[in-house]
Amino acid sequence: MQGFSHPLIEQAQALLHKYYGYSSFRSGQVPLIGQILQGQDTLGIMPTGGGKSICYQVPALLFQGLTLVISPLISLMKDQVDGLQRLGIAATYVNSSLSFPEVKERLQKAAQGWYKLIYVAPERLESPSFRTLLQTLPIAQVAVDEAHCVSQWGHDFRPSYGAIAPMIAELPYRPVVSAFTATATTEVTHDIIRLLGLRQVQPYITGFNRENLTFSVLRGENKRDFIFRYLSDHLDESGIIYGSTRKEVDQLADFLSRKGFSVAPYHAGLSDEERNRNQEMFLYDDVKVMVASNAFGMGIDKSNVRFVIHHNMPKNMEAYYQEAGRAGRDGEPSACILLFSPQDILVQKFLIEQSPMSLERKSYEYKKLQAMIDYCYTPQCLRHYILRYFGEKASGHCDDCSNCLDDRESVDVTIEAQKIFSCVKRMGERFGTSMVASVLKGSKSKKVMNQGFDKLSTYNIMSEYKEKEIVDLINLFCAEGYLVMTEGQYPVLQVAPRAMPVLRGQEKVYQKVQKRQAQKKESDPSLFEALRTLRKEISQKEQIPPYIIFHDSTLREMAQS
Ligand code: ADP
Ligand code: MG
Ligand code: ZN
Repeated sequence: MQGFSHPLIEQAQALLHKYYGYSSFRSGQVPLIGQILQGQDTLGIMPTGGGKSICYQVPALLFQGLTLVISPLISLMKDQVDGLQRLGIAATYVNSSLSFPEVKERLQKAAQGWYKLIYVAPERLESPSFRTLLQTLPIAQVAVDEAHCVSQWGHDFRPSYGAIAPMIAELPYRPVVSAFTATATTEVTHDIIRLLGLRQVQPYITGFNRENLTFSVLRGENKRDFIFRYLSDHLDESGIIYGSTRKEVDQLADFLSRKGFSVAPYHAGLSDEERNRNQEMFLYDDVKVMVASNAFGMGIDKSNVRFVIHHNMPKNMEAYYQEAGRAGRDGEPSACILLFSPQDILVQKFLIEQSPMSLERKSYEYKKLQAMIDYCYTPQCLRHYILRYFGEKASGHCDDCSNCLDDRESVDVTIEAQKIFSCVKRMGERFGTSMVASVLKGSKSKKVMNQGFDKLSTYNIMSEYKEKEIVDLINLFCAEGYLVMTEGQYPVLQVAPRAMPVLRGQEKVYQKVQKRQAQKKESDPSLFEALRTLRKEISQKEQIPPYIIFHDSTLREMAQS
């Protein structure tokens, strides 16, 4: 970034040191602060924990007038302001917890120049009389925190954010407006610029790379076993485990505390009192691990969280990175682990499906979900996947994510890819993953037979695979851009241009597999047959209910040893 060797930045640096005790700005903070100090409207897109607050607080210290901070976190306003006051910064707040005389007194002092920053809840701005009072203040900057709340596309839409632009328009002169969020989708970014009336602003995406965080996606783990082992190996560490439902959170917290770990649950089903108590215990390290639903964490600034484990895949990358980003705020090495199972996809699709959203909104959510699924399946560097998703330029390896550290071997799956791509084509690119997999597997199910797919040349050509293995391959090929999943309620598979060289035999496709899996033992055919005969005999002799009779695949596995 050029243009920011401005003398103002040096002054800002001095204030950072004087008030906060930090030696330097993070690289992403400098251009944002530089822009604000030059009086330009600014939209800073920075991840959770990236350090957005300082981007408007330090300019606030340098401006003659007052900085009005709009923040939706009413419950944390007092803490935030107390924190600033402890640093020696003149700040106050105004929200519904105060009486009208108190509000008036604070605003009067603000008019007299007592404060550098005043925090306001957006709901206040809906009151015309409050807005009239604001017009008497010397407001130099309006800083909009969590700016995605203005957008219906954002995950925390707050209608009262709509009052911000009119409030600014009513001020006797226009202050510089800075807005901050961790959400980087184009829809939200456009809404922020439009609905807040930002002028001549280039959204600035920065700081998404959190060097001290390592990323892992684990597939096919027994989730509970993994968590048990992980906690046993990290007994002294503080961490968060995110579960997807209240029930799951309760059960997991229960299981872990019965195993003797220091854990507490947190979800919307608990009483306020219980939630606050558990949160406090976690903040003060009286409890090591918080098992939580996604209700936990907004605005929480606990610095020494060493790991964030997701028991399930979240609904999109924004949600994931926000939650995972709660690890390692102190800059120390910390782990972000996502435990993935294909079941998670179904759950997320179900949640979108049964929600009362518009069709347009649903297809938007599907698009974001697909990017999350791709994250779980990509064999590429996870860190760089995240950075690209959030709009930063990135390619190559980080050498510390689970994909970069992966020592599995690459297996040539070109033939499988060709079979799958041609099946998708033959079926007219009108069907979803499970239907395509069923056809390749040679399923005799009604849905396959009714369509006459048993007559297709690609029917039954992958019969040696389990249907789940075919589904995994299809997901891999989607993540790698060979196949495209359309958006909407009934997503269908299509063959992407990238698949053409593979179909023509000009390019190969590889999949990573566990070494031990690759060397999986063949089952002994005669032993397998013997087991089958035995099964038949048993089931005839003793009236065994069909559901406990061993399946062929089980017998095959037994015949391996
Ligand atoms: P965000 O709002 O982007 O989630 P915060 O503003 O709460 O993040 O900052 C996260 C943490 O990073 C805070 O503890 C803050 O004090 C710290 N921080 C911010 N900027 C710096 C810096 N330049 N040097 C060191 N720590 C910083
Ligand atoms: Mg913040
Ligand atoms: Zn990597």
